[in-house]
Amino acid sequence: MAKKTSKKTMSSSSSPKSHKHVYFFGNGKADGNRHMKDLLGGKGSGLAEMTNAGLPVPPGLTITTEVCNIYYKEKAKIPAAIEREIVENLKKLEKAAGATLGSSENPLLVSVRSGAKFSMPGMMDTILNLGLNDDAVEGLKHRTKNGRFSFDSYRRFIQMFGNVVLEIPKDVFEHEFDAVKKQRNVKLDTELDENALREVVERYKGVVAKRTGRAFPQEPHTQLTMARDAVFRSWMNPRAQEYRRIYDIPDHIGTAVNVQMMVFGNTGERSATGVGFTRNPATGKKEFYGEFLINAQGEDVVAGIRTPQTIGELELVLPNAYKQLRQITTRLEKHYKDVQDFEFTIQDERLFMLQTRSGKRTGYAAVIIATDLVAEHLVTPKEAILLVDPEALNQLLAPGFDPAEWKKIPAVTKGLPASPGAASGQVVFTADDAVKWTREGKQVVLVRRETVPDDIHGMFVAQGILTATGGMTSHAAVVGRQMGKPSVVGAGELRIDEHGRTFKIGGHTVKEGDYISFDGLSGEVKLARVASKPSEILQVLDGSLAAKKSDIYLRFEKLLTWADKYRRLGIRANADLPDQAELAYAFGARGIGLCRTEHMFFGEGRIPIVQEMILADNEADRRKALDKLLPLQRDDFYGVFKAMHGSPVTIRTIDPPLHEFLPKREELMVEVAVMEATGKSGRALEEKKHLLARVEQLHEFNPMLGHRGVRLGITYPEITEMQTRAIMEAACRLNKEGLKIVPEIMIPLVGSVKELRDQKVIVDRVAAETMKAQGVKIKYLVGTMIEIPRGAVTADQIAQVAQFFSFGTNDLTQLTFGFSRDDAGKFLRIYQEKKILDKDPFASIDTEGVGALVRMGVERGRKTSPDLKLGICGEHGGDPSSIHFFEKVGLDYVSCSPYRVPVARLAAAQAALSVKVGD
Ligand code: PEP
Ligand code: MG
Repeated sequence: MAKKTSKKTMSSSSSPKSHKHVYFFGNGKADGNRHMKDLLGGKGSGLAEMTNAGLPVPPGLTITTEVCNIYYKEKAKIPAAIEREIVENLKKLEKAAGATLGSSENPLLVSVRSGAKFSMPGMMDTILNLGLNDDAVEGLKHRTKNGRFSFDSYRRFIQMFGNVVLEIPKDVFEHEFDAVKKQRNVKLDTELDENALREVVERYKGVVAKRTGRAFPQEPHTQLTMARDAVFRSWMNPRAQEYRRIYDIPDHIGTAVNVQMMVFGNTGERSATGVGFTRNPATGKKEFYGEFLINAQGEDVVAGIRTPQTIGELELVLPNAYKQLRQITTRLEKHYKDVQDFEFTIQDERLFMLQTRSGKRTGYAAVIIATDLVAEHLVTPKEAILLVDPEALNQLLAPGFDPAEWKKIPAVTKGLPASPGAASGQVVFTADDAVKWTREGKQVVLVRRETVPDDIHGMFVAQGILTATGGMTSHAAVVGRQMGKPSVVGAGELRIDEHGRTFKIGGHTVKEGDYISFDGLSGEVKLARVASKPSEILQVLDGSLAAKKSDIYLRFEKLLTWADKYRRLGIRANADLPDQAELAYAFGARGIGLCRTEHMFFGEGRIPIVQEMILADNEADRRKALDKLLPLQRDDFYGVFKAMHGSPVTIRTIDPPLHEFLPKREELMVEVAVMEATGKSGRALEEKKHLLARVEQLHEFNPMLGHRGVRLGITYPEITEMQTRAIMEAACRLNKEGLKIVPEIMIPLVGSVKELRDQKVIVDRVAAETMKAQGVKIKYLVGTMIEIPRGAVTADQIAQVAQFFSFGTNDLTQLTFGFSRDDAGKFLRIYQEKKILDKDPFASIDTEGVGALVRMGVERGRKTSPDLKLGICGEHGGDPSSIHFFEKVGLDYVSCSPYRVPVARLAAAQAALSVKVGD
């Protein structure tokens, strides 16, 4: 998956210190509101807001995220004052609920749920039916007149509490449950009567006593304290940490804990529980969308254990509750001005809302929804820009199957189309294998009966996810959509043997490593590797599809045009050849921020000329070779300039060490040895030997810090001369054709103003000569890359000569950390795991260190030259969180690879709308 937007920079993660640690909601009034996500988490603030809006929300209390941090700081202890605050609020809750914790007549039961600022589906723990004990269960029976339900609730509670809080494996409980079923000779859970469930409860209590050496805690306040602490602990469980790492959610924000009066979706056929969206989160279509289960509790729907019914069917079975649900959710969407993802429970036909939050959606759906909401006048274009995660746009550029190829192969089954996109790869059955195989360079699809939160790492690397059970809101579906992974779920005909690493479908047996393909938009699964086809957007851009025939293209373009209106940063592209420049222009880049001229040296038939130049023993021979390169470079520059239609183009003089253009030393040694051994002699052997000698002469121990960048231009000025001439001749030619170009000639790896001065003299001289020879006068700029720490520190001096700076944050990161760009991959992952680094500094700018140097370069450069043009052309130019930083420091433009231009346009608009230059 593509990288993610940094949550850190998009919102203030530090919440104001508050002395209130528990927030109550109930009886139509809440202490909190929707703006308090930092403190109350997404769930807590949503519950508060819905309560204030008069919606049917069971009363409860939210223990703030600050308490989570206190819990960790105080080594798993909560100060007495906060404990008192919780008890006081529990009293309020008992009053609002008209029931008492532990009562043998009318007991209050609560759910205890996590809820961080950013939703982390299924990553942390939840406990339901808390408050039940040997007395309260009788009280529940008394109140509901339903002994079966009461004891079923009690056994569920002991099981959940036993597993989550006391860490007893689930299967130990399941073993006892099955034993009772066997004894009573029944198959289904629902066939167990009250007496049987009483026995299950006794057996479960026995399990707890045996496993923990203590009786199951009967006192509700003790249960609550233990459950609350378990939720806090779950914040740091490995899967939650992995999830935060992937989504760039900081550890320090903590989770809130919501304690809420239980309502029951499992009291019988007039009760239900469900989840839904106000619009389809996979396709963006405006349709009421969701699933429910009759007579079920809490997590049953999301867990993917029973395949639920679609929400439309609710209208048939519980029409009043359905009607009310539609009214409420429509109101919530208008109120929040975004698609809502909601949870509800219907208890004996009475509807309760348990959650509302912005719905996670695919990139495709995000664009459809944002443009629809504007058309419906629910949001303004400016608000719509903020509704789409820039990274999600990448999903729209991903290839789909070639329809002709796809049609040829029969589908073996069809599952639910949970997340669109084309997935093709080798089958693996575990998340660990997905990671292992991917590291070996294979493309895999993850096939599971159902995914669980622990599978997150495998889902992240797989091409797609296919499951046999679960609905459109199962874990696989929710997470697949969020990651933009093609996902097909609930393909019920698959018979998966995860241990045997095979699955059976329609008479075929598919083994681990076999190829399959599936389409996340239709749900079809095929047993073959299928070629894919460029996305519709790329087809429009390359002219093979008419724009007006592609709805998604028109919306994509509309959204980005709105973004262009609000962004301050210019968007350029890093492109080396005319076709890349054309694509970048089509994507909306208005300028080239970096043209790496050496990449042109690798063009067809060019390497021998470049080698001739390098092998030359004297200047005259070198110039001869350069003369041959000149027309080739000039034509490339002409093409790149032309593709940009007059927008600025920055061309960098040669950067890498020369030996990169020569064959490898070891290979040459073998070739020479073979020639000698086979008796070859004469010119061919002599040439090979000469080449080897030159390669050895050019060999460097540390080429990244060696003879490269401006150092080449200084030692071989004729290279700078040739490149300047080629640039200026191309610009003059276009000028004569009527296209005005202002070339920006950029000298790399400058650490001292004297280096730049040396090169500028050459550039100015050759430029003057060329313009005279061509009889044309054009404007050009000479500038430098700031990519060496010394360059940033002495930027005030460099700005005396440079007319622009472009920050080369790749080298600047390498040289600031002292991490080799080419070797850091070996240890950076471990650095992140150990939290020495939050993220890969080569992907997302290290604002404290490398960023400080950028800021220094900006300030010092502008002090000397207030109008100095400033840009960035390292990889960070296409990273949304880095773009926020560049907005703050006040750069003029960012430059990134052509495919990231849409991401950068949107991220730059979001940055302009949420941060200020100089912050
Ligand atoms: C950089 O160093 O950031 C840069 C853009 O140059 P290159 O990646 O070519 O070294
Ligand atoms: Mg560089």
